[in-house]
Amino acid sequence: MSSEPRAPVHDRLAENLAGIRERIAAACLRSGRDPNDVTLIAVTKYTPLDRVRELVGLGHLTLGESRPQQLLERAGLLPSGVEWHLIGHLQRNKVRSILPVMALIHSIDSLRLLKRIDQVAGELGLRPRVLLQVNVSGERTKDGFPMAELETRWSEVLGYRHVEVRGLMTMAPLTEDDTLIRPVFRGLRELRDRLNVMSPEPCLRELSMGMSGDFDIAIEEGATLVRLGSLLFDGCETK
Ligand SMILES: *Cc1c(COP(=O)(O)O)cnc(C)c1O
Repeated sequence: MSSEPRAPVHDRLAENLAGIRERIAAACLRSGRDPNDVTLIAVTKYTPLDRVRELVGLGHLTLGESRPQQLLERAGLLPSGVEWHLIGHLQRNKVRSILPVMALIHSIDSLRLLKRIDQVAGELGLRPRVLLQVNVSGERTKDGFPMAELETRWSEVLGYRHVEVRGLMTMAPLTEDDTLIRPVFRGLRELRDRLNVMSPEPCLRELSMGMSGDFDIAIEEGATLVRLGSLLFDGCETK
């Protein structure tokens, strides 16, 4: 059979996906949450297109890319049913081309960018869903709003009417030490709760946090969106 040589990788991908779903369910069970409240975003930034097609063939249609250019190229090549998430930095000159294909932009990291999106969305008659990226850990190398800035400038954020701010996103420090990771995720949840209290109605539902190395902890701390790349495609690199 001609399809035989591809079967092992396909099986491996299905196994990885099933294993991740089990870990999501287990983390939900531990923390008294409903697994349906956690969405798995398959991060495909390092994955060749053929492999991404196999994932889509398995029925997984929620994909994340970190570079707007690659997201746009792939959106043109994959089925229109794919739900696209941008998880990396968005340059202001890419806003106009990217808005029409986005399900959710996770990586709004400045008021300047939010303002630009609001303006372009108004012109295009769109109301994009976005998350605000927060630098909870305060590492110099990380993108995102400083924790305090969002609280002090929240009324400004609420003033942008052409965007739907759905929640917050963060990245934990790259470390094996859980005691350094958990407070970052908890800090994002607590910030979300404070900002909801400061809003006319609680509009922030989503917490995008957790990657291959730390998503179990993130779910225990309230993640509604986990972004997984390397674990999902582990062992699927070779043809
Ligand atoms: C690459 C990336 C991920 C996925 O990371 P893995 O460790 O491969 O799961 C998640 N979030 C962001 C913002 C990324 O850039």
